[in-house]
Amino acid sequence: MTQPLLAATGVVKSFGPTKALDGANMSVRAGEVVAVMGPSGSGKSTMLHCLAGIIQPDAGTVMYDGKELSAMPDQPRSTLRRTEFGFVFQFGQLVPELSCIENVALPMRLGGMKRRDAEAKARTWLDRLEVGEVAAKRPGEVSGGQGQRVAVARALVTGPRVIFADEPTGALDSLNGEHVMRLLTEAAKDTGAAVILVTHEPRVAAYSDREVIVRDGHTRQVEFA
Ligand code: ADP
Ligand code: MG
Repeated sequence: MTQPLLAATGVVKSFGPTKALDGANMSVRAGEVVAVMGPSGSGKSTMLHCLAGIIQPDAGTVMYDGKELSAMPDQPRSTLRRTEFGFVFQFGQLVPELSCIENVALPMRLGGMKRRDAEAKARTWLDRLEVGEVAAKRPGEVSGGQGQRVAVARALVTGPRVIFADEPTGALDSLNGEHVMRLLTEAAKDTGAAVILVTHEPRVAAYSDREVIVRDGHTRQVEFA
């Protein structure tokens, strides 16, 4: 069995009087899709934010590729997030003033890539996510399912080693949700990226290799037979 690429051990995180995580453990290996399941308010998003280095745990450790992410200063941690991680959320992640192709090209443009090169690469990812036809449109002019596929293209275009998806199908009907999940997990398998998939929908979790159940800030690992 290969080593985990990313692992949380004994993670505790409180927000004021609320203990969102109380000794949570989970890990993901390269190329693996792990679903984080559990009821609303159980600590799923907090788990994802700790694993991604967006928030720092009060106790416990997060290890990424041999480095202790939970002990890293803000600056290198945010650089690592930008260069090695990709994110897909439920809503509102595309810049409304930019066209869809400009949205997908944005992370590469911010990294200093020329417009022409960034948009050529963005184009291949839009095609791959089966939304090439919306390239010139603004996010407000496309359907929810199309917009979410553009968001997935933007998360994948930089070649992340870990993709963090928090309720990525939460705003979609089941047909569109499954389409997004199929394209997301196929692309992740092809590139060897790990996926942390937060969802409360069993139909969405079915796209994972393994499940972690979060309940009241505690985690339980579920191995499929
Ligand atoms: P889930 O994603 O499973 O719905 P969350 O991780 O978002 O759950 O939240 C877990 C608990 O922590 C909830 O009680 C929530 O209200 C609380 N919480 C999460 N984030 C914050 C925050 N930034 N400030 C205060 N409370 C928070
Ligand atoms: Mg959540």
